[in-house]
Amino acid sequence: MSESPQCWINGELVTQNEAKVSVFDHGFLYGDGVFEGIRFFNKHPFMLYEHLIRLQKSAKAIALEVPYDNQAILNAIEQVIHNFAEDSGYLRLIVTRGVGPLGLDPTGCSEPSLFIMADQLAIVSERIRTAGVRLIIASTRRLPNDGLDSRIKNLNYLNQILARMEANEAGADEAVLLNQAGRVAEGTTENIFIVVEGKLLTPPVTEGALDGITRNLVIQLAQQNGISVAESPLTSYDLYNADECFLTGTGAELIPVCKIDGRRVNACPGAVYKQLEEYYRKTIVCQSENTQRFL
Ligand code: PMP
Repeated sequence: MSESPQCWINGELVTQNEAKVSVFDHGFLYGDGVFEGIRFFNKHPFMLYEHLIRLQKSAKAIALEVPYDNQAILNAIEQVIHNFAEDSGYLRLIVTRGVGPLGLDPTGCSEPSLFIMADQLAIVSERIRTAGVRLIIASTRRLPNDGLDSRIKNLNYLNQILARMEANEAGADEAVLLNQAGRVAEGTTENIFIVVEGKLLTPPVTEGALDGITRNLVIQLAQQNGISVAESPLTSYDLYNADECFLTGTGAELIPVCKIDGRRVNACPGAVYKQLEEYYRKTIVCQSENTQRFL
């Protein structure tokens, strides 16, 4: 545990050991809150503007007021990154409904809380990043969008945790969730892409996926570099027969998939993946060298 302040809680910088949350916070009690995970490189938050917009939208969708404006959040992020021992790492921003009496009703909650923490995140080992992830298609289905819209990045990940446990049980690295209609939604914390005859395909977010920031960047990079890309509903058949498959996410970045339910993916890492991974790395360098662009 680091002793230098690298957590920010409702306006106060504290160390990891001092960073505490009330057991009466409805974020803890009921998952009533929203969050963002943001990478920073060379002390620069990556895709920060996009993450702040999504945080605002997630909060609005659950009628939760983010208790600080973007300028205050920017200042807080700057302080947290400044205090973090390393130049690159991962930030977690969490907005909860705040402290209130037991019971779901949020009207008793005094005021929302904002937490910002910095840490290292390595959700995939270097071995997997090179060799590719082994996926299974989970029997746990993605929660339907008419119950909880998948675009809301909310604090309850039980649905995805159950799918991930299936992957662990099967000796795989990661799971893909299908939606209620049996079509592909996303990974537990990543969006999914396939390549079929040179064309990049990913399910529309209305299929039950988060509107991923890495996903959107990859689509943009493909468009800018002449790679044909489309949003398209996908089935497990499409995954099994893809020429390439890869996952995208802030934590995962871009990781190639080598196997899906025991079927070997033709190319891992494939040519399209390699190209996009290179463009992604260049975008990071470009943003983190641009000292004018904190946002
Ligand atoms: N889907 C889910 C469920 C996630 O939690 C994440 C991680 N935020 C993603 C997809 C990838 O989204 P992003 O690229 O914005 O990190």
